[in-house]
Amino acid sequence: MRPNRIDSTHATRVVIIGAGPAGLLLGQLLTSAGIDNIVLEQRTAEHVSARIRAGILESDTVDALQRAGVGARMAKEGLVHHGIELSFNGDRHRIDFQALIGRDVTVYGQTEVTKDLMGARRSAGAVTVYEAEDVELHDFDGSRARVSYRKQGVRHEVHCDFIAGCDGFHGVSRASVPATSKKIFERTYPFSWLGILSDTPPVAGELIYARHERGFALCSMRSTARSRYYVQVPATEKIERWSDSRFWDELRYRLDAPTAEAVVTGPSIEKSIAPLRSFVCEPLRFGRLFLAGDAAHIVPPTGAKGLNLAVSDVLYLAEGLIAHYEHGDAQGLDQYSERCLRRVWKAERFSWWMTSLLHSFPDSDDFSHRIQEAELDYLTHSDSARRALAENYVGLPR
Ligand SMILES: Cc1cc2nc3c(=O)[nH]c(=O)nc-3n(C[C@H](O)[C@H](O)[C@H](O)COP(=O)(O)OP(=O)(O)OC[C@H]3O[C@@H](n4cnc5c(N)ncnc54)[C@H](O)[C@@H]3O)c2cc1C
Repeated sequence: MRPNRIDSTHATRVVIIGAGPAGLLLGQLLTSAGIDNIVLEQRTAEHVSARIRAGILESDTVDALQRAGVGARMAKEGLVHHGIELSFNGDRHRIDFQALIGRDVTVYGQTEVTKDLMGARRSAGAVTVYEAEDVELHDFDGSRARVSYRKQGVRHEVHCDFIAGCDGFHGVSRASVPATSKKIFERTYPFSWLGILSDTPPVAGELIYARHERGFALCSMRSTARSRYYVQVPATEKIERWSDSRFWDELRYRLDAPTAEAVVTGPSIEKSIAPLRSFVCEPLRFGRLFLAGDAAHIVPPTGAKGLNLAVSDVLYLAEGLIAHYEHGDAQGLDQYSERCLRRVWKAERFSWWMTSLLHSFPDSDDFSHRIQEAELDYLTHSDSARRALAENYVGLPR
């Protein structure tokens, strides 16, 4: 077969690359507005819906999912949290979101958000091509774009008005833009998060962020019966070196004594290491191509912002596309990049700050250590400092 031969040609208004939360939510919003779209995803639906990732939804994310018609199960099964706790120097300190700013967050796993969006897309009869191989973007700087892909040996080409690059950090969309047309801002961290999921009751009703001289730890959850725990490990760490019992011992070591005592251990049902990175690509629009979510930016998970940022990008993009198709109004699309980036950089700042506050840095000196302690002391004793944390954690207004 000739490599460039096209066997089948289709047309749609918007091709969405990637069926993660960004791509599926955009598809849902466009389909609801009667705008024809196709989602191309390189993996199987089962693989996508089983990926264990984020779990904290800002209140605006919850509202957006409800308005998009995919909030019913989340309303029943999501856990509303009115605050978080910080653990350091042997004590726990609560940040009470409700008292400080009158808002809260919801614990509802990314796996569940993804399943709800997939279900809605299936019910609407919208097209998703799973296991789409060799996806390529063409002519997005011209008057009409194209996306080609291969499925079961057949090469397809889709003609479209716009391409939404929602294909995550390692996707093809951002990589298709020439280096001279984009500017990359990046910071890598000398550590990763080792996470486990276990069918054990969470140690506390809210998340506990722990700072300890051996490194950061996080007690999180997915439900009242399923816990998610993390410990900071060196960036070079290997998962094989971590038995479940070693993990539980290290986690307990980093928590204050009453919390450590209360941890219920059990076999892990998932265990993985995730590197920490801050990354932004500017701009987010290249002619007819728009980047959204992790395709455009990455935050370290400390501030629980990744999934929420993906949702806010998609809301701006959907608004812009709907205004374009319904009223011929280009303003939303023209301002897409600038509007997203203002929010993205504030989330980058907050995620970097939370990471710097709570992790042990291998090259840290006594001065940096004292600064970390002063920050934590300030948070413990100042309502203004706690309010600033609460406002950012719960999500800044769009
Ligand atoms: C291991 C891990 C743990 C995380 N933990 C947290 C957390 O605790 N809290 C938090 O807030 N955030 C967390 N995040 C971040 C959060 O999960 C992401 O911000 C969120 O998934 C972004 O959604 P997205 O749709 O933009 O990208 P993704 O979810 O990455 O979806 C992109 C989709 O595009 C597909 N794709 C990629 N390349 C191609 C291609 N060439 N062709 C077609 N399809 C393609 C991928 O298969 C994928 O389905 C984590 C991320 C990772 C990787």
